[in-house]
This record gives sequence, C-alpha cells and structure tokens, in this order.
Amino acid sequence: MSEAAARFLTLSEEAEVLVALYDPADCLRRANRAFREAFAVGPDEQPVWADLMRRNFGTRHGTVISSTDIESWLVSTLSRRGKRRFRAFETDLADGRWFWMTESVDRDGWMLCIATDITQLRVDERSLRQDRDQALKASQTDELTGIANRRFMIAQLEALVVRCTAESAAHGSACILDIDFFKLINDVHGHQVGDSVLLDFARRLEPFLRRHDSFGRIGGEEFMLILPNTSLHDAAAVVGRILDMVRQARPQVGGVSFSYTCSAGIAAFSPGDTAQTLYARTDAALYAAKRAGRDRVEVGLP
Ligand code: GH3
Ligand code: MG
Ligand code: MG
Repeated sequence: MSEAAARFLTLSEEAEVLVALYDPADCLRRANRAFREAFAVGPDEQPVWADLMRRNFGTRHGTVISSTDIESWLVSTLSRRGKRRFRAFETDLADGRWFWMTESVDRDGWMLCIATDITQLRVDERSLRQDRDQALKASQTDELTGIANRRFMIAQLEALVVRCTAESAAHGSACILDIDFFKLINDVHGHQVGDSVLLDFARRLEPFLRRHDSFGRIGGEEFMLILPNTSLHDAAAVVGRILDMVRQARPQVGGVSFSYTCSAGIAAFSPGDTAQTLYARTDAALYAAKRAGRDRVEVGLP
C-alpha cells in the first residue's frame, strides 16, 4: 500500500466524520471508529443495514426513528435508499447530535456514507430545513403504503432510459404489476380490506429488490418495478418468483386468512425508446396478461 493510501485509511479511521461502506446487499463492510460508536457496531461486526436499524431502534442508538412501527419505517425508507447516485439529508442521532449525511452509490451498488456533525450549525433554521426534507420525502412517497410514488417511479424510468441511451453497455427492464380482481376484493370485503391488501403487497415485494431496483405504487392497485442492468429473460424470472410468492401468500386481513394474485407486464429498453414508449410497451404487456387469464407475466416486445 502506498504511503498516501495508508495515511488515508488511518486518518479516515480516526476522523470525527462518520464514514461507512455498504456492499450491494446493504451489508456494512467497513466503518470508521466514529461511525461504529454512533451506531453501536462492534469492531468485527458487519450487520445488514436493516438489521442495524432494527437493533438500534430497540436499544435507542444511531438514527432517531420517529415511527413506532419499525417494519413500516424500513419498507418506506428502503424504497428510496440507494436508488440514486447521490443523496444528502439532515438526520439526528439518538445521542442528540445532528448530522449532514451523504450517500454516494457506484454503478455496482456499493454505497459510501459520509456524515458530518452539524449540531452547532444554524440551529435556528433547522426546523425550516427539516420541513424542506420532509416535503421532498412526501413528494416521492405514496401515502398509503409508504413506498415510492408515481412521480418518483416515472423519474426513475426516465433515468433508466437516459442511461441506456447514453451508454451502449447499459440495459434494463421495466415491469408493471396489477392486483387481479381488486374491485371485487373491495366490493366483497370492503375498502379497508382492499387497503390492507395494497399494504401487504408493498411489504412482500421489498425482499425481492436489489440496491438499484426501484419499486413504487403508480396508481390504485398498480405498481411499477424498474430493474436496471437486467435482461428481459432475467426480469421474467424475478417477476415470476414474485407472482409465485403472492399466489402462495396467506396474509391475515380483517382477521381471516386471505389470498390474492396479480398480473405483470414486462419490457426491456430497446434503442430509440423514450420513457413513454417503454411505459406503453410494459402497459400493453400487462393488458395481454389480463386478457390471457391473469396471474401471469407477459412480455412486451418492441
Ligand atoms: P383486473 O383483474 O382486470 O385488474 O380487475 P380489477 O378489479 O383489479 O381492476 P379495476 O381497474 O376494474 O378496479 C380497480 C379498483 O381499485 C377500482 C378502485 O375503486 C380500486 N382502488 C383504487 N385505489 C384504491 C385504494 O387506494 N384503496 C382501495 N381499497 N381501492 C382502490
Ligand atoms: Mg387490477
Ligand atoms: Mg388497475
């Protein structure tokens, strides 16, 4: 190792800023002393981010989580975490300090987090800045399920198309999932059971997502999944597994064991595509899946 590299590592380890590196599976692979102290991580521990948050929620370390329901908070936060190359926000820790947290994600899904202590900085304007961050989050979040909303997903679809158009090696697929006979679920069991089914669906999908995948609710009972660097063949396999999982799920809804299915349309980026044409092809594939009898995946070819 060069002297510069060695000093870089030593100084990073001793620095007051919090430094952490997560791998594409969101496992904490390296963190400096300041980070490990703030988040109560042992020197040899490599927890997955969601498990670290669960643990800190219980012991009141690390990030302040204002929700009383940690699992809902995780689904909502994971829906936006690491989906863009760079993100920055203010966050407070359980020890009372405030941090300016930045997240930089590389093309393979590794994420570098650097957080600077801003406790002494412009305290008077903090509530204004918090309101701004809250408003930004709200503008990207679906109120019922807490996952990303239509606006966020359309922006992600546009970003996928821009990347695929600019880089010849880049590719990716889009998917629209729609719950089958949802109107009937509402009519037979009531609107509240319908809402619970939407929530159940949003939560069940989260474990299928990788760092770069985006998932959100784009309409009543319609959801979009964006899979960067994924061929149509691989997207069909992932979505097939999702449909299997939904088919076998027996959520407790309204005190009874409930089952439902969904249909999906998928399409891959093809040169010349705009976000609109890719969307239209995905949507047409969904309607083909509905016409063919539902509870299946259809592919939209260019
Ligand atoms: P298909 O299998 O062809 O998709 O039929 P469907 O009944 O699922 O589709 P349709 O588009 O006919 O009905 C969708 C229903 O979803 C109608 C609407 O009242 C209901 N809906 C939309 N938004 C919400 C919501 O937020 N909560 C609940 N409970 N229902 C909703
Ligand atoms: Mg439907
Ligand atoms: Mg629909």
